[in-house]
Amino acid sequence: MIDRFGRPLEDLRITLTHVCNFECFFCHMEGEEGDNYILSKEDILLVAKVAKNFGINSVKLTGGEPTLRRDLVEIVRGLKQLGYRDVSMTTNGFLLKDLAYKLKLAGLDRINVSLHAISRETFKKITGVDAFDRVIEGIKSAIDVGLVPVKLNFVVNRRNREEVFKFIELSQNLGVNEIHLIELHPVGLGKLAFKEHDDLREIEEYIEKISIKKQIRKKHFRPRYVLPSGLIVEVVKPYANPIFCAGCNRIRLSVDGKLKTCLYREDNVIDILDILKGEYSEDVKEELLGRAFMIAIAIREPNFKYKI
Ligand code: SAM
Ligand code: SF4
Repeated sequence: MIDRFGRPLEDLRITLTHVCNFECFFCHMEGEEGDNYILSKEDILLVAKVAKNFGINSVKLTGGEPTLRRDLVEIVRGLKQLGYRDVSMTTNGFLLKDLAYKLKLAGLDRINVSLHAISRETFKKITGVDAFDRVIEGIKSAIDVGLVPVKLNFVVNRRNREEVFKFIELSQNLGVNEIHLIELHPVGLGKLAFKEHDDLREIEEYIEKISIKKQIRKKHFRPRYVLPSGLIVEVVKPYANPIFCAGCNRIRLSVDGKLKTCLYREDNVIDILDILKGEYSEDVKEELLGRAFMIAIAIREPNFKYKI
């Protein structure tokens, strides 16, 4: 399905929980508030089934910390059984060492692990937890079991900015395939943390110079740089960036049952909780959810647009 701004809808981002075992000072919580209701595995799979009918073929699981959901492995298995081509997850990696193999067996295709530091000290300053070594173990397990490509997310801010180039080195040594250098978004706690924002301009200029190839990804038109080692560095700069929004192919399912059309917008949402909780047959629920998707696609609009 294409929205009225010509953007295809291809990707469903599902928040599985708001609970987290870390306290990152900038956490945007996927732009969600309130979690009086937590969608069940059945709710999630039903919405995913309907999304699939709209041509959506890739799912990203997120949170909170998705590995804290006890039914995570079953959710992944259910998504693959629905026929999703690409099922991936973003995690803080704390529980990954023991989960990686189970997730791989359930069909998880690939993984993003957030690692915002190259040392125990900075890691703790950012996440509030002394877990750097443990997350590194998790990353190694993901590589070992073949959850590839393994990508690392690094949200750049004043506490870790000086570590970016060492982070690239560390990633190369670990053997990960790709890293994402992400601009801090002013959403959730990110609003307060925005004073520590870095626009990534200088960092990107330097990376471009040392790279051997530049590519532009279809999703968000994100620039990617291939380094001589083969490591891919993707630069994620959404803030006040109309080009990024023009390439947005994503819709979000919030943990409390809303179709959220944009990370930044709290108004552009369709509440589907009544449908999910309603005493309807599954066929009727599917029909109603389909209509909700149609409305969500109709109201979807880029948050940052060029002014004419
Ligand atoms: N707990 C998991 C994790 O940290 O990877 C998944 C949820 S987290 C909200 C999803 C991604 O958003 C992570 O890579 C995290 O670093 C990133 N993130 C969180 N707050 C952010 C912010 N204010 N700006 C940019 N990225 C942010
Ligand atoms: Fe937890 Fe992820 Fe938010 Fe950090 S960014 S507090 S790990 S949900």
